[in-house]
Amino acid sequence: MAKKQFKAESKKLLDMMINSVYTNKEIFLRELISNASDAIDKLYYEGPEGLSRDDFYIALETDPEERTLSVIDNGIGMSKEELEENLGTIARSGSLDFKRSLDEEKPEVDIIGQFGVGFYSAFMVADKVTVISRKYGSEECWQWESTGADGYTLLESAMVGHGTRVILHIKNNTKDDNYDEYLFDYKLRSLVKKYSDYIRYPIQMEVEKTRQKEGGEDNEFETYTDVETLNSMVPLWKKSKSEITEDQYTQFYQEKFFGQGKPRRTIHYSVEGVSSFSALLFIPERPPFNYFSPDYEKGLQLYSSGVLIMDKCADLIPDHFGFVRGIVDSQDLSLNISREMLQQDRQVRNIAKSIEKKVRNELLSMLNTSREEYEDFFKDFGLSLKFGLYNSFGQLKEELQDLLLFYSSSEKKLVTLKEYVSRMKEDQKYIYYATGSSVNQIEKLPQIELLLDKGYEVLYMTDEVDDFLIRMIRTYQEKEFRSASGEDLGLEETEEEKEEFEKKASENKEMLAKMTEMLGGRVKEVRLSQRLKSNPVCMTVDGDVSIEMEKAINSMPVQEKVKSQKVLELNPDHPVFEALTGAYSAGDESKLRVYTALLYDQAMLIGGLDIEDPVAFSNHICELMK
Ligand code: ADP
Repeated sequence: MAKKQFKAESKKLLDMMINSVYTNKEIFLRELISNASDAIDKLYYEGPEGLSRDDFYIALETDPEERTLSVIDNGIGMSKEELEENLGTIARSGSLDFKRSLDEEKPEVDIIGQFGVGFYSAFMVADKVTVISRKYGSEECWQWESTGADGYTLLESAMVGHGTRVILHIKNNTKDDNYDEYLFDYKLRSLVKKYSDYIRYPIQMEVEKTRQKEGGEDNEFETYTDVETLNSMVPLWKKSKSEITEDQYTQFYQEKFFGQGKPRRTIHYSVEGVSSFSALLFIPERPPFNYFSPDYEKGLQLYSSGVLIMDKCADLIPDHFGFVRGIVDSQDLSLNISREMLQQDRQVRNIAKSIEKKVRNELLSMLNTSREEYEDFFKDFGLSLKFGLYNSFGQLKEELQDLLLFYSSSEKKLVTLKEYVSRMKEDQKYIYYATGSSVNQIEKLPQIELLLDKGYEVLYMTDEVDDFLIRMIRTYQEKEFRSASGEDLGLEETEEEKEEFEKKASENKEMLAKMTEMLGGRVKEVRLSQRLKSNPVCMTVDGDVSIEMEKAINSMPVQEKVKSQKVLELNPDHPVFEALTGAYSAGDESKLRVYTALLYDQAMLIGGLDIEDPVAFSNHICELMK
């Protein structure tokens, strides 16, 4: 019988399927099962009344001898014209884009990834495909058959009942591909579980089982065949919350997401409206081991009416909530939507927005009602929220700032910015913070002494990102942040105090200039301090780059190194200062040099910084002890 020719576009696609090097060949089963499910939907929803959902099924049948795998459905079926129309041409909506990508370098991988390939994907695993179909209500039954791009045949056939049987003649194994496995029950069962678990109709397969022989001895067994339904059909997230036990959620979380223990929080909700979807989300107890490394891949599983479209859809969850695992199921998404199209898809964006809000509210409620749990959460995941805010250049300030916690000098525990501001003293204008490597180290910084003395609360920041983060937040409830080591603490002072300080500064101007010179560019300036009380010296900075930022930036592989403008501040009311002025006025330059070097090294050490020359430091001390 003469072969009919495929339309040009179809021929190209088919060629690609047949010679496919695409590694994810197994998706063919998902595509055929989805077609079967659609065909049943069409009959059930659009067909005559009186049909019951229970009457429908999809079946898989294998014949290892003949090397065939059949996907059977009792759906609407196809007439002769429809077989020709549907399987002889590509009528998919993506076909225009598809043509465009044909010109690209690796068209095949792109196309399969982007559009899915529906029915033709069968040719990735089969060298001949036979489709026998009887349209519902018709007397005729037709058979379509093709061995590939050279065309297809169409002839009358026989089949009892309506629906479609797609018979794949499975290819022989090659050195790269194991096609045999598509003839094995266990493989088919696992593919159905993976891709088609939530298809609404039962996917049945006859399987061989063994049982103890009735009336036989203990060790006498017999094999028998049984029809097994491979899919769960109703997904957990489609059930109502009241029907689901905590154990079921936990089990689902562990099975699907390799979750350890129980999820910290489970969020399960549905939305009906412009974008309709269900979501089942989990906030894990602890982050995965690679969470803060570049290998970590965030994303939620995306389903279209129970069929898996994508395992990790990154667009559904923002980076700062990248630890959330779960699924989203929306009937509004096409099965063949591409990664690129997903990104621009309005539905996906709406869903993502809703999910972000839900997760945020869940965290806020944890913060407000289970503080300890939130603090525990924050210890593990706080950095993710901080990076989120920082990386957005402050755009996510409103969303994230109230979820942040910082260690408080007065409460001796983690507090929110809101709590801080609510406790601010009447005369306090700024939110004070100090950065360092640990709470312990910061607690001893000379520059916070005066602030604490005034009864001000100081936030201790120990993460490298904190200094950068504060620059993104800038203000909270219109209160500016001030670093305890910054240029100006912005404390109120009386005219008298001011005058007295200026007088002292001008009296010692020359000595300070001399000391600055002695430090040879290591500091911008040696200056009298207004923030020191019992300590003789401290290191602060002028300008925007803090010492912590300098350290952090310079430890990164960036070309451009930065330098903070260090200022060595001296306490004019400390006895050490008298020793300095004594040496200076006596003209003892070598003593002044030793004192200056020592004070510089001390300030570095107290500030948690390395000193450049420990041997010189030790020699200087010895000199004093002599
Ligand atoms: P898509 O499903 O994306 O439209 P396919 O290439 O998978 O593209 O299928 C083309 C068309 O063939 C379908 O739209 C449908 O009309 C028809 N078809 C495929 N499989 C079946 C089936 N099992 N029963 C009835 N019609 C089918």
